[in-house]
Amino acid sequence: MPSINSFDIIVIGSGCTGLSFLEALNQLDQTKRILVLEQATSLSEIPKKTWSFWTQNPNHFQHILWHEWQSWYISTKNQSALLNSQKLTYQSIHSEKYLNHCLNHLSTNPNITFLFNQSITGVTYPTQTLCQVHSDTDCWDAHWVIDTRPPMMKRDFELIQSFRGAYIKTNTPLFNPTQFGLMDQIKTIQKTIQFTYLLPKDTYTCLIESTVLHQPNATIDLDGLLEHDLKRICDNHNFSIIREERGHLPMTSHTFKQPSHKRHIYAGQSAGALRPSSGYGFIRIRNWAQYAAKSYHLKKYIPKPNYNRGIMHRMDKIFLNVLTQKPEIASNLFLSLANKLNGDEFAMFMMDQPNINIWLKIMHALPTRTMMNGLLKKSIYHGV
Ligand SMILES: Cc1cc2nc3c(=O)[nH]c(=O)nc-3n(C[C@H](O)[C@H](O)[C@H](O)COP(=O)(O)OP(=O)(O)OC[C@H]3O[C@@H](n4cnc5c(N)ncnc54)[C@H](O)[C@@H]3O)c2cc1C
Repeated sequence: MPSINSFDIIVIGSGCTGLSFLEALNQLDQTKRILVLEQATSLSEIPKKTWSFWTQNPNHFQHILWHEWQSWYISTKNQSALLNSQKLTYQSIHSEKYLNHCLNHLSTNPNITFLFNQSITGVTYPTQTLCQVHSDTDCWDAHWVIDTRPPMMKRDFELIQSFRGAYIKTNTPLFNPTQFGLMDQIKTIQKTIQFTYLLPKDTYTCLIESTVLHQPNATIDLDGLLEHDLKRICDNHNFSIIREERGHLPMTSHTFKQPSHKRHIYAGQSAGALRPSSGYGFIRIRNWAQYAAKSYHLKKYIPKPNYNRGIMHRMDKIFLNVLTQKPEIASNLFLSLANKLNGDEFAMFMMDQPNINIWLKIMHALPTRTMMNGLLKKSIYHGV
């Protein structure tokens, strides 16, 4: 008889990856003994985020979306480009709504146990088919471990995307909820690329997020930037802040190593799920979760994710190299992309699905010399 501390699968972290995987598996199989170990004291204590993404297909969490848009713009101080997608919709969801939605699906499965307030310190491998998960005070055995603890920020990451956002409510109708600002007032200041991300839900409510793409050693005053953005956008009108979010995401072509044991799997951010050229990860995470759940159900095998591969990854590296080496051209580059691609093409690029035609147009928008550098160099750290 298995010990009470022994499980088929242990999931470390009940965030986007952990719960997306469990929700997908739950639809296929409810017989496996599963333990979820989360360091927060409850689901509501996990820092709140807004996950946004372009999607082609209606999804089963449509009813809990925060808002959705077909149009968006990119602007500099003097110019603006408006894009509209026929095929893809940009959707936003609040993380707590999504996680609760997953949890509701899991709540009727008696074989899943959640333990909160468990900070995992490591995983060891007693045998080839068994892993042992450790906190300072406990340990648990499992045949498979899905480990979603986030990666350390490294100094050799090419760029970090740092942002601080406030959801505001005004008394005056200030916003247009039919279009969002992907990059409002993009500019380069002292080698950092700065812009505001604006998600209006209705004429009175909007997420205003000050965003900076910068090298890992840069010091960024996000509080000051947000204060400045709020003043600029609300223009002396009264507003109240109803929710906040902040984050630092790696934008890197760095290889995220997997553990040596084949049943210990890094997934999500810790395995490089965030797109190097944009920091988007939600759809990649959900796609792997569904694929992994299916594979476990059919083949009793959980594949290690490889989010970054093939031509797509090489192109992403070039794009990232251009942003790192020539941050001063960022505003022209993004405006040029917005002018060369139509809305569907732009959204497909952002969502990992560009075809060769779209890549050719993107390459055409990049400065030739920098692009050649990107093509010839393995990484900007080898030679520049
Ligand atoms: C503020 C913010 C906004 C974002 N917005 C978008 C977006 O709009 N679109 C998009 O595509 N991507 C976005 N991302 C990127 C990405 O989709 C998210 O980071 C996503 O949450 C990553 O999922 P994950 O499962 O890897 O990590 P998480 O969702 O962070 O889950 C990891 C879990 O592990 C737990 N944990 C950590 N350490 C331990 C430990 N030692 N022991 C036990 N548990 C532990 C954490 O508490 C957390 O619950 C955003 C990220 C942030 C931070």
